[in-house]
Amino acid sequence: MLQKRNFFCNFVAEMIEILKSRNIRITDFRLVVLDILARHKTAISMEQIEEELGDFDRITLYRTIKTFIEKGVVHEILMPGNVKKLALCDDGCQDEHHHEHLHFQCNSCNEIYCVDIPRFPKVNLPGFKIDRMEIQAFGTCQQCLS
Ligand SMILES: [Zn+2]
Ligand SMILES: [Zn+2]
Ligand SMILES: [Zn+2]
Repeated sequence: MLQKRNFFCNFVAEMIEILKSRNIRITDFRLVVLDILARHKTAISMEQIEEELGDFDRITLYRTIKTFIEKGVVHEILMPGNVKKLALCDDGCQDEHHHEHLHFQCNSCNEIYCVDIPRFPKVNLPGFKIDRMEIQAFGTCQQCLS
């Protein structure tokens, strides 16, 4: 059964732990951005983050997101139609991303979910080196089904 991922940091202490474990210096701004990402159960866009921040320095925000991506705090999700979103990474994602999950886009609410799958397929392509493999699925989310 597919399960919606549980984001693991609803508390400041946990967010501080996430930054610490990835050797990211803790700043109020980083915590605020992390909090926005953590409060959403689905992937969010840069625009959504900007909207929620209200007053912020754009360069600082872009640097923060860049650091978060590099250190495995968040990952970028590219969906068809040039849709670019951000979602929190798993605990196991540090310097190297381990994304054993798929991205599910709901055709009804358009939300994008990170969904863990028990056995992420390993594909062997002779003559090709795979750096990253993505699985995307489209349909109706649990929320919209119920
Ligand atoms: Zn990751
Ligand atoms: Zn939906
Ligand atoms: Zn994801």
